[in-house]
Amino acid sequence: MFETLQAQPADKILALMQMYKDDPRETKIDLGVGVYKDATGLTPVMRAVKAAEHQLWEAQTSKAYTGLAGDPAFGDAMVQMVLGDAVPRAQVAAAATPGGTGAIRQAFELIQMARPQARVFVSNPTWPNHLSILKYLGMEMVPYRYFDDETRGVDFDGMIADLKTAQKGDVVLLHGCCHNPTGANLNAAEWDAVIKVLQDTGATPMIDIAYQGFGDGLDADAAATRKVAAAVPECLIAASCSKNFGIYRERTGILMALSADTSAQKLNQGTLAFLNRQNFSFPPDHGARIVTTILNDDALRSDWMAELEDIRNTMLGLRSQLAGELQRLSGSDRFGFLAEHRGMFSRLGTSSDMVDKLREDHGIYMVGDSRMNIAGLNAETVPILAKAIIEVGI
Ligand code: PMP
Repeated sequence: MFETLQAQPADKILALMQMYKDDPRETKIDLGVGVYKDATGLTPVMRAVKAAEHQLWEAQTSKAYTGLAGDPAFGDAMVQMVLGDAVPRAQVAAAATPGGTGAIRQAFELIQMARPQARVFVSNPTWPNHLSILKYLGMEMVPYRYFDDETRGVDFDGMIADLKTAQKGDVVLLHGCCHNPTGANLNAAEWDAVIKVLQDTGATPMIDIAYQGFGDGLDADAAATRKVAAAVPECLIAASCSKNFGIYRERTGILMALSADTSAQKLNQGTLAFLNRQNFSFPPDHGARIVTTILNDDALRSDWMAELEDIRNTMLGLRSQLAGELQRLSGSDRFGFLAEHRGMFSRLGTSSDMVDKLREDHGIYMVGDSRMNIAGLNAETVPILAKAIIEVGI
């Protein structure tokens, strides 16, 4: 029966990783895959994660199933971390999922269950997996303008104009912070304007927050999500713990569904548990338990936050070093956007030919749309990248 299957397109980033591996040049630089790497190229297990695992290993007496929505303590800790006191806890349904991707998938299914005809507005560009899952589920997508090729910032007027065409029953997918793949983000006033459009149109926001703590700080990065959540009657939030806790392979994420009252919350909570049951039954627990242990222990939490701040500041340092180096070499400010962008990624905003040239001539690997993982750099490789960017004529 399986002869009817059609080959699926290879994941471009994974193919790029292989090319990088096969490249014998010692000077090669990997700015491809989206994991944080320290100056030595390692993706470390964070100190607090190790300590929490140790505690769990000693204290855990059973690995029997948790609830269908995961451990309630994980839900509480994550709702607090993402939403703070922006909305009453009793109006938030939450279910643990396998990673942020799992949360996004469950969110789309929830939307489809509630409104089979819903259109999902997606930024152009967005994380390719958003598009791929929506396509796989047969859901209608409407791209909205987002990245300005000229300024490498947000095409705010275009975005607002496009979002105004959304209607009640549509969903607007927004990146809570650290937009992937561009690195370009809305400022506070621009978020206010987006909220106004959501209120005027009645469209439902869905926020993907996968990099809380990687941009301007743990609370600062959640500020927009909190504002949106407090301003609209219903909202979906898909949060990932992969990056900020460095537990990528543990598959730890959560889907939150906010509603205007507690009876809707009960319905949502039951539906989230049902959806988990249909897709994978009980969500993974190990990563969720690590996160809960850290967030609920003062010492572990402050150590985790300190390490997260180091990671964030390392990336900010690399950004300003790169922007500075490019300013020196080009004699212009045209690369200043690199210091303005936030999170792990920046879209350089150049052609795929230039991306190929950087790879072929200089052993610098970035995604074809010119997305660079800033964490793939270190103080020594920044000048090499800057020189290569100028040499190929970007
Ligand atoms: N959303 C965005 C925008 C992402 O970049 C990622 C990770 N690449 C995710 C969600 C989900 O990550 P994970 O499933 O690994 O938690």
